[in-house]
Amino acid sequence: MRSPDYRTCALVLVLAASMLAACSPDGNMPLAPSPAGNPTNMSGAVQNAAPDPAVAAFASASEALMQRMLTRAPEWSIYAGRYDVADRVTIPDAARRAEDLAFAEAELAALSRIDPQTLPPELRIDHALLTNRLASMRWYLTEFRDWQWDPSNYNVAGPIGLILNTPYASEADRLRTVLARLEQVPAYYQAARSNISNPTREHTELAITQNRGTLNLLGDSLRERVAASSLETAEKERYERTRQAAVETIDGFITELQSISGALTENDDARPFRIGAGLYDAKFRYDIQSGFTARELYDRALAEKNRLHNDMDAIAIELWSDYFPDQAMPEDRLDRIGLLIDHLSDQHIARENFISEIERQIPLLTAFVTENDLIDQDPTRPLVVRETPEYMRGGGAGASVSAPGPFNPTADTYYNVTPLDDYSDEQAASYLREYNQWVLQILNIHEAIPGHYTQLVHGNKSSGLIKSLLRNGAMIEGWAVYSERMMLEQGWGDQAPEMWLMYGKWNLRVVTNAIMDYAVHVLNMTEQEAMDMMLREAFQERTEAENKWRRITLSQVQLTSYFTGYAEIYDFRERLKAGMGDEFDLKTFHNRFLSYGNAPVPAIVDMMQGDN
Ligand code: ZN
Repeated sequence: MRSPDYRTCALVLVLAASMLAACSPDGNMPLAPSPAGNPTNMSGAVQNAAPDPAVAAFASASEALMQRMLTRAPEWSIYAGRYDVADRVTIPDAARRAEDLAFAEAELAALSRIDPQTLPPELRIDHALLTNRLASMRWYLTEFRDWQWDPSNYNVAGPIGLILNTPYASEADRLRTVLARLEQVPAYYQAARSNISNPTREHTELAITQNRGTLNLLGDSLRERVAASSLETAEKERYERTRQAAVETIDGFITELQSISGALTENDDARPFRIGAGLYDAKFRYDIQSGFTARELYDRALAEKNRLHNDMDAIAIELWSDYFPDQAMPEDRLDRIGLLIDHLSDQHIARENFISEIERQIPLLTAFVTENDLIDQDPTRPLVVRETPEYMRGGGAGASVSAPGPFNPTADTYYNVTPLDDYSDEQAASYLREYNQWVLQILNIHEAIPGHYTQLVHGNKSSGLIKSLLRNGAMIEGWAVYSERMMLEQGWGDQAPEMWLMYGKWNLRVVTNAIMDYAVHVLNMTEQEAMDMMLREAFQERTEAENKWRRITLSQVQLTSYFTGYAEIYDFRERLKAGMGDEFDLKTFHNRFLSYGNAPVPAIVDMMQGDN
């Protein structure tokens, strides 16, 4: 899952997604696969349903609905690792939108005839996830209408890249599937062109850049790959004609976007990228499924920023004379925190040891979790550290977890780490300072243990297709962010003030992302104000801040998911602790919390409170 920063571009679960698809800022893109698999033997709190025929009927009907949704969305199927309809392209025309709307209405009506309270917890969550998904589909079609104003919705590269890069069938078969898709490219872009109306300048520019990337994907390398394949000569000729026609179509689309973009630049009335309060509040409800409103979350994040600054300042004052014995401490608290962070960032691993250091830390984290009784682990599903495969690279260096998808459950789980080989000395130095000796440990907690990887192993126990494919991003990211603070509270890093200071900086990124996303889209925060917040209050590098600004202009709401999930999980734990006193047990809390799978945090809270 994407980390709060492009530089880590951590794409948990995005198995073989091409860079174009994977780094799309659109949180509504087809969901990447998440794990399923053999149930583990870890203890869990989810109770088995009594053999009630109505319950069994819902279980099979909801599974069938999920399969129908996949079948009618071939691109989503491909991302999920199902290839039986991979030769079909969804043509995004008005007829298709009408079909989608009718589908959503009919299935929502069917779901509404079932009282979720009659279902056991696991299925109640599935009912809620399906209902939210279908209602969300209707809202995107009828209210959000980004199919009109966001031209970057239109790109054929993602699924083609996946088919070319995933060895699920023979090379010849996969090339034929790509050929079938290429034949539908002209119809696809014809629909796209008639949809686009009053787009934003930002999304138009993005669509130009990304479709240029598509031309690369369909260019010489594909031509040569087909030529070297075992396809028949006649088939190869047809392939080449089709490929050229697709390239011409995309070229024409880019040209049209360029002329739209030129007109927008001269036109002050162009649609603003800021979506405003009405759309933002609704999108937050559908995408995040939080117990907070968007505004409550924003206020919570502002308070958190202040708390972090207070804590970090106390540390800066405490450590100042150790690191700067001959230098007066600045008056301004942000100045002294910033100087200390800058100074400490020189303590980092050597460039050539980056991957081996990560490998070294994984078993240490595992042992710490066991020794401190923090959460169950499953030694039968180990995490394999590897260099990120070439086809998944592109966003620079970074780390991510790849879990087996629901249609490929026995595959290994990988911790992908991109070596710094492609970096200049200067870039590598900057990256290593960012992921200095303290932050690198927090990154490993977030991505691996007990963050994403540990959550995924637990999620396997209760994950059916629905929880895998409709998984809640705020819960998954929120868990990883929660696990960082929890580990430090439990003594990882020996309570060193330097560790807590660096944690503060790391966590400020998540907090300011949430603040800025709301402030920019709803409160008209300016670019200058956002840059000031990132550079001065969150101690970020300028390049990082510039990239983040761009991401805020292109996406909405997704950047709040990390903080939302974290705040909800942390608050819930503290409420339980306060209520239970000595009865509260951290390991029991963690095991039970994760036993419900990839569900929204408020749904888990309901279940856990209902079970008490
Ligand atoms: Zn993450």
